[in-house]
Amino acid sequence: MRLLKELDERDSMEIGRSLHSFAADLYPICRSITGEGLRQTLGMIGQRIALQISEIPTGTLVFDWTIPKEWNIRDAYIKDEAGNRVVDFQRCNLHVVNYSTPVRAKIPLHELRSRLFTMPEHPDWIPYRTSYYKEDWGFCLSHNQMLALQNTEYEVVIDSTLEDGHLTYAEYYLPGRSEHEILISCHACHPSLANDNLSGLVVATALAELMSGHDLRYSYRFLFIPGTIGAIAWLARNHNAVENICHGLVLTGLGDGRALHYKKTRRGDAEIDRTMAHVLRHSGSPYEILEFSPYGYDERQYCSPGFNLAVGCLMRSVWGTFPEYHTSADNLDFIRPVQLAESLRTCTSVLDVLENNYQYRNLNPYCEPQLGKRDLYRATGGEAIGVDINARLWVLNFSDGEHSLLDIAERSGLPFSTIKDAAELLCRSGLLSVVGDESAANRNADNSTSRRAGVGRLPPGQGVIALG
Ligand SMILES: [Zn+2]
Repeated sequence: MRLLKELDERDSMEIGRSLHSFAADLYPICRSITGEGLRQTLGMIGQRIALQISEIPTGTLVFDWTIPKEWNIRDAYIKDEAGNRVVDFQRCNLHVVNYSTPVRAKIPLHELRSRLFTMPEHPDWIPYRTSYYKEDWGFCLSHNQMLALQNTEYEVVIDSTLEDGHLTYAEYYLPGRSEHEILISCHACHPSLANDNLSGLVVATALAELMSGHDLRYSYRFLFIPGTIGAIAWLARNHNAVENICHGLVLTGLGDGRALHYKKTRRGDAEIDRTMAHVLRHSGSPYEILEFSPYGYDERQYCSPGFNLAVGCLMRSVWGTFPEYHTSADNLDFIRPVQLAESLRTCTSVLDVLENNYQYRNLNPYCEPQLGKRDLYRATGGEAIGVDINARLWVLNFSDGEHSLLDIAERSGLPFSTIKDAAELLCRSGLLSVVGDESAANRNADNSTSRRAGVGRLPPGQGVIALG
């Protein structure tokens, strides 16, 4: 459980502040599913971890979808007759419907109204709207801003381009001892929205930084992609290689104040589902587990029936269920350092369980071994046994080569870390051995080095463009 241990040795408030500060750096950028804002965001993540960037040309077919034209925007506003910008993209990038086609016109208010989006129920908030797959334009503004508009003519400018270009996404591949992979995916396409977008990006980046440099059982693939079309494009380009993915998580909405919510994989009983349930149950914090549904984030694509990957989704507030969702109120005040840090810790706990969830074999299966003579039992008879001894008995009894440590943790009701500690102690005492050849104990250093070098489809530095 060394990843979690390493994290817990650091100051969690400092970790939280650093996550929030990175979100604040990314917040002003006008991202979309394509374009310079997305590239700039990936560039900033690439300063922390060595990303491999891929660019897919407009018009490329990816399954049933087509890579759209690339969208970029410099400026947009609605000006009154006195020349005042009454709606100004420079003040908030949510003011423009994302993917708006260029416009330069003078329009009376009664004609402009059908292009304006507001939220009467939250009259000070600006909604976030998109029009990716239908060429259109519009503005989003607070309802109070709209009520203040006069029945007169306005100058409307959207200085954008929608042209043939590319869709950009980034990967960070971290080779482990096995070519079996854990996928961590998050969307990077929302403009100034903090929880739904940036919280996932900063937690995933920190997780990648934390895992780097460790001797890992699994290989890890972190994806920073535009939502939906990015996941579809990545899957289309890696159709056969996805069979290496054993476990996966979509990370999003990890900074707000609600309890953690985990949406299960389509399979419903995958190791990642059981691991997440175990970690949350022992976290001491409230949580909720949701069944799979075919709506939500990119788990929809990873869990489409043709792939049916074991990818779940970890979030706090669930998409669409909180008033701040897809509005200007999903800002940097809505996400908090302490919550970001707790989300990172939960992810780390989950990966630590997956990394250590081996099966073992009891080398002394005929009746209990005498623990006392090995200093593994209490010295004085009569009193109740403690948790540690109880864990040793559970591990010995169920280490029949068929039960994993997670199976034993679930069955005993004890935390995985306690079961894992018991297994390590029993191994050192010669009473237990790990099953299979993936064992860290059985591995020799030379073998590990040669396997690492040959592993993975995308070794570092082989991307289309290397950022960093
Ligand atoms: Zn969203």
